[in-house]
Amino acid sequence: MILYGDYHTHTKYSRHNHGKGTILENASVAMNKGLKQIAITEHGFNHLIYGVRRREIRAMKEDILNAKEVTGIDILLGVEANLIGCDGSIDVVDSDFEFLDILLMGHHKLIKTKTRKDFNRLVLANMFGSPFNPSQERLNRNTTGFLKALDKYPIDIITHLNYGCPTDTLAVAKMAREKGTLIELNGKRINFTDRELLTMAEEGVKFIVDSDAHSPERVGECNNAINTIFRLNLPLNQIVNIDKLPKFLNKRGTN
Ligand SMILES: [Zn+2]
Ligand SMILES: [Zn+2]
Repeated sequence: MILYGDYHTHTKYSRHNHGKGTILENASVAMNKGLKQIAITEHGFNHLIYGVRRREIRAMKEDILNAKEVTGIDILLGVEANLIGCDGSIDVVDSDFEFLDILLMGHHKLIKTKTRKDFNRLVLANMFGSPFNPSQERLNRNTTGFLKALDKYPIDIITHLNYGCPTDTLAVAKMAREKGTLIELNGKRINFTDRELLTMAEEGVKFIVDSDAHSPERVGECNNAINTIFRLNLPLNQIVNIDKLPKFLNKRGTN
């Protein structure tokens, strides 16, 4: 069983020292671990502390070209966008698709939401509400936000679903399946019950294994996810980056 690519990694372009390494360092570790492809997916533009700046995109592209040449690893440029509105808005705009090879989206705290009401509902309610016993109202609101985002945007991967933002997992996963969106099995945290994972697998949901590395040495470190796959005997043909390279909705041409 071989992991072909890691599609959720951060570098110094996530601000305030949140990501530790450079793009070249991430790619070098990927090369040493035998990966064929990685994605650089910094925190979205509306993250108040860690968000990447749009003005850095040009420098990122140059770093990617250089790192590709040095390592031979194929490197996709992406972003880990934030859900910023209960109406499904995320923090990418149309012109961002000119540079995006891959679009990830997940819930994060400390973001600039679309409206003040959204801040109360998406950030504060989830920050101070119970992670285990969310009110039905909160659960419905979170779920609707994700469903609407999936409907509005060509999202390749939903990252760490349910982390800090409980949803109706199966409803989100089914919509993801319809839209060609992958559900991430995050190398650091999996916020699904075994039953939820097994049901998603039975429903034909496609998964991707990612490290969510914030430092180069963690690139390709997905043991938590891989152990879960083996423990539950999840079908490997539904894990898009094990023993094969995935196809993405936003990928433009070949590199
Ligand atoms: Zn994240
Ligand atoms: Zn991340």
